[in-house]
Amino acid sequence: MGMDFNFTEEQEIFRRTLREFVEKKVKPVADEIDRKDEFPEELFKGLAELGCFGLRYPEEYGGVNADRVTFSIFCEEVARGSLALAASATMQAFMGTHFIAKFGTEEMKEKFLIPAIKGEKKGVICMTEPNAGSDLGNLSTTAVKDGDEYVLNGVKTWITNAPLADFFTVAARTSKGKGMEGIDFFFVEKDTPGVELGRNIEKMGLHGTRTSEVVLKDVRVPVENLLGEKEGMGHLYLRDILAEIRIMTGALSLGAGQAVLEDAIQYAKERVQFGRPIGKFQAIRFKLAEIATELEAARWLVYYSAWLIDQGKQPIKEASMAKLFASETAVKAADEASRVFASYGFSKDHAVERYYRDVRFLLIGGGTSEILKLIIGGELGL
Ligand SMILES: Cc1cc2nc3c(=O)[nH]c(=O)nc-3n(C[C@H](O)[C@H](O)[C@H](O)COP(=O)(O)OP(=O)(O)OC[C@H]3O[C@@H](n4cnc5c(N)ncnc54)[C@H](O)[C@@H]3O)c2cc1C
Repeated sequence: MGMDFNFTEEQEIFRRTLREFVEKKVKPVADEIDRKDEFPEELFKGLAELGCFGLRYPEEYGGVNADRVTFSIFCEEVARGSLALAASATMQAFMGTHFIAKFGTEEMKEKFLIPAIKGEKKGVICMTEPNAGSDLGNLSTTAVKDGDEYVLNGVKTWITNAPLADFFTVAARTSKGKGMEGIDFFFVEKDTPGVELGRNIEKMGLHGTRTSEVVLKDVRVPVENLLGEKEGMGHLYLRDILAEIRIMTGALSLGAGQAVLEDAIQYAKERVQFGRPIGKFQAIRFKLAEIATELEAARWLVYYSAWLIDQGKQPIKEASMAKLFASETAVKAADEASRVFASYGFSKDHAVERYYRDVRFLLIGGGTSEILKLIIGGELGL
């Protein structure tokens, strides 16, 4: 496998710093964020101060130009505290800002990327549509060139933090080409005439993130807002970051799974039935042993894939395996932990109830398990 991977001292220090932030500031309020369903603005700013939103970006824009292993540490550690905060934070640090950082004009970077890295403005990504989820090639939002402008029309759905966003990266069809080849990405400011927030989506979990539709009605943007060299390149730009998207969701799964495991271990030590802590019963012990083992295996897959990106590779197979295995492991962990807690896990008194709801998101974002298996199968030559 050519696996020559170790965490550097710098990466270990970054992990410790984040862990301390999460222990002190995030864990104590994570249940409250869930109950109130309020965006954790202060914690979001705190992550900006720690440099998290600039991890992937150059120093000239306030970033720190870190590697992808470090980015994965960020995902894992924040998700260990609150998956809702982590979902918002990773949106800001990656998908909501990637396209303008890579293809935006200097003015866009000045007005939007730099403030986003500081946590002062929010960026989000609008890809999914009511009839185009996994099948993104079927999206129907259009961007028609009219002189030195593009006119955008369409409806986007499931957009994380759209109600809080200052700017959107919107996937739209430019050419008449069918499928993915006709898709490009556009920079759209919130205040552009014709941009409206649609229906708010009430969710099972990830409370504290806001999710809504975004409606684009004759939205005119200058031609510079086409993010990329020319029309017809969008699918290639997306392909370039697919492995990274999957590793990110895999790393979020590690943190979520780890939080579950830690709570379940503690509970298994404390809860006494039939005269002994339930962790002494083989049935409970085996559950926790399995979760710990699978999480450790998932951790290797995720960090190894991130490290491969840092080596300049495009690890589609490894990243797909990492995301598939890590997310399924987090979901299994939450299910098993719920059994360990029994009635107490069915109450809102314990975080395990929140974990059980939140982890379902990991099965969907970054590619569903079914789609990932299709891709892995393809990589096997099937
Ligand atoms: C909490 C949350 C936040 C989100 N945030 C964003 C966001 O910020 N921006 C954004 O653009 N999108 C966002 N999404 C949307 C997400 O990307 C989509 O939900 C995802 O792409 C899956 O699409 P879908 O839900 O329409 O499922 P569908 O594609 O309709 O899939 C339904 C089922 O069919 C299966 N399926 C589909 N095609 C195949 C196939 N070829 N073979 C086998 N099985 C198949 C799927 O695996 C799934 O089980 C978010 C979703 C959630 C839940």
